[in-house]
Amino acid sequence: MMMSRYRRGQLLALLFDYDGTLVPLAAHPRLATMMPRTRRLLRRLAGRSRIALGILSGRELSELRTLVSLRNICYAGNSGLELDLRGTLISHPDLQNAIPAISALVGLLQKVINKFPGAWLEDKMIGLTVHYRDVPINQIPDLQSQVSVVSEPFLDRMRFTDGPKAIEIVPEVGWNKGTAVKFILEHLGQDDLLPLYAGDASNDDAAFEIVSEMGGICIGVGAGIRHFAHYCVADPAALLSFLLVLDKYLRVVPIVYRPLTLDDYYG
Ligand SMILES: [Mg+2]
Repeated sequence: MMMSRYRRGQLLALLFDYDGTLVPLAAHPRLATMMPRTRRLLRRLAGRSRIALGILSGRELSELRTLVSLRNICYAGNSGLELDLRGTLISHPDLQNAIPAISALVGLLQKVINKFPGAWLEDKMIGLTVHYRDVPINQIPDLQSQVSVVSEPFLDRMRFTDGPKAIEIVPEVGWNKGTAVKFILEHLGQDDLLPLYAGDASNDDAAFEIVSEMGGICIGVGAGIRHFAHYCVADPAALLSFLLVLDKYLRVVPIVYRPLTLDDYYG
């Protein structure tokens, strides 16, 4: 389906989550770097006509851009709160107002986290993440429930999402990975486009939902995606294999396909 629509002249918007999707989860987020081979492939795809790329993440926008290091693509950081649309920066206008509440929550969460060796807090200014991948597995439920207790007064202002061995917390201002997908597609400015989204966790659900509503293609990476995925691949390496095949198909489509009419035939 994807290739036939591309051949008919549609733009393909290839949208990816970063951690667990383009890059395997690592022992520490800073170790989750992109393989040069993946970067080369994404650069090649982004350079093709009628292909646009977007990468969305719970990470800070600046960190995401540094990790990916590709120009002329769209980025969404902090779970969709801040975007770089091929050089045009946008962020939610109310974010600054949320900073005092985030600071207050950081103080409370830090006290909880200090009780659990291996847990740590990533303060991203306009969002925060509780990481617990190094916490002994039998202590994780206790950590989660203590986080829930101190977070209770903030539930009306903050959104809590399960990430990869982490709890992602951002101000609830109505923007998420789903609205980020919308912003990216609006920025591309074409009615005739086919979006594809690949993600690995429940923090991708909003993006999957939008792409699904638009008749796009949803690819679940790993076993964590059940509701929205039209297709599943086992891990980031399998996604890379799929993209390599896609790239090969795109290479043999140098011109927009237009069916011949009888006039063409006899003309
Ligand atoms: Mg992910």
